[in-house]
Amino acid sequence: MLTASVLILATLAGYALLCAVKPFGPCRKCRGSGIREVRKGFKMCRRCHGQCYRLRVGRRLLNTSREIHRTGSR
Ligand SMILES: [Zn+2]
Repeated sequence: MLTASVLILATLAGYALLCAVKPFGPCRKCRGSGIREVRKGFKMCRRCHGQCYRLRVGRRLLNTSREIHRTGSR
């Protein structure tokens, strides 16, 4: 049980570090290519707008919590 908790905490810490160091990850919809294959050919990826990268979920959480804190502590 202790090992499992440590493992989960280590994973969370690693993900938090990853979000701090590299806030952008490759887009999952287009796998970092920026274009999507559709029936008629290729289209620009709508999820990342052709930029190949998206903001990580953890980083978005951090940004949102910062925004809430900034708005509330004025
Ligand atoms: Zn994309």
